[in-house]
Amino acid sequence: MIETLLLNFLFLLFPVLIFLIFFENRLHYYILLFLSSISMVLCMVYPLKLEGGYIFDLRYIPFLIVALFGGYKYTFPMYILLNVYRYLIGGPGIGHSFIFSTIIFVSVPLLHKKFIKQSPRNRIIGAVIVSFLSMVIYITWFGIALPRLNKEFWLLTFYALTTGIVVMAIIMILIEKIMVNIKTRESFLHSERLSVLSDLSASVSHEIRNPLTVTKGFLQLLNTSQAILGEEKKYIEYSLLELKRAEKIVSDFLAFAKPQSENMIYSNLKNEIEYVKNVMTPYANMYLVEIEFYFNNLSNIQYDKNQILQSLINLFKNAIEAMREKGGTLYIDVTNEKKDIMIKIRDTGVGMTREEVLLLGRPYYSSKKEGTGLGMLMVYSTIDKLKGKIEVESEKGKGTTFYISIPV
Ligand code: ADP
Ligand code: MG
Repeated sequence: MIETLLLNFLFLLFPVLIFLIFFENRLHYYILLFLSSISMVLCMVYPLKLEGGYIFDLRYIPFLIVALFGGYKYTFPMYILLNVYRYLIGGPGIGHSFIFSTIIFVSVPLLHKKFIKQSPRNRIIGAVIVSFLSMVIYITWFGIALPRLNKEFWLLTFYALTTGIVVMAIIMILIEKIMVNIKTRESFLHSERLSVLSDLSASVSHEIRNPLTVTKGFLQLLNTSQAILGEEKKYIEYSLLELKRAEKIVSDFLAFAKPQSENMIYSNLKNEIEYVKNVMTPYANMYLVEIEFYFNNLSNIQYDKNQILQSLINLFKNAIEAMREKGGTLYIDVTNEKKDIMIKIRDTGVGMTREEVLLLGRPYYSSKKEGTGLGMLMVYSTIDKLKGKIEVESEKGKGTTFYISIPV
């Protein structure tokens, strides 16, 4: 018995390993589904054979994991596969297996939405509980169905319950650990990119600013000279205008740089958020977007005022642009959560797929014709400097929520 269970366990480790070795950088849900299906089928190929033709194996572990992480959409193909293959195996347990898998297929994916919102630790505990409970149901029912309860039945009960807990716990710990590692590496790469950008932009902007100021000064002087007349005066004015534009670009670029000491303030963001809300209101009206605003934050932090203003403008602007086809509501909610300031910015706009969310904050990533793809980069850079975190929840066609938490 033990050998068979160990073999089953090995089959369950197989998708984890393959994923880790080959696909870690490309999180594709269909690949995961495929790997889990293979391991489920392998488990069924090498089951524990019980007397009377019944079989037992660990097929429900990948099935439960996919149901919890993937919901109905991904569980359905596995459900079909499980029952088709179980039918091909034959024997007396077919009906039992069909009903049991149907119960799981209907009930467990209901937990999916709650499940993925939990912390890794709670997810591990949750999955173990679900696995334990389904084994209890399975065994109880099996016990009732069997004509007489013999020693083999009690042994099976013991194995089913312990593997239901232990194997599920091990696999879940591995999965969660892998996900944490991927996340850590992503955020490391991100801050690496940002720090290069911030070093570069500070030095370049300062180097360009000085000659610009000098040139502007001389042109202004020249402009007041009596010797220069009509046509030439116009040229000078054009030059001054263009210089002004260049200065604007340079100072925008400085937003990526380290916080500037002259802009640093110690406050609770209230003035900034209200200011940006007022500035953006005409833009929102233009696209029939309503703004709902709620502020309740008592904690003060130190920040660069200009950078915060610019980041908020970028976020609000994106949210409004996401709703420009149909209008909608922009919810802004600033509160204290534990020791952090929590800024929630929710829109009811076009939303993004998971892949698009991952691309947020990459330089020049934009889906808009007139987009620059620098807005979110700036937001990430600013929040990164405040040691804050940005989480994005988005659903295509439904809308997007940005959760920005900044430690006090
Ligand atoms: P830009 O706005 O110039 O395109 P950003 O860096 O501000 O550049 O945004 C990058 C991309 O991220 C956008 O083009 C858009 O596809 C996506 N995006 C950002 N915010 C949202 C949002 N609230 N809803 C939907 N998509 C968004
Ligand atoms: Mg933008």
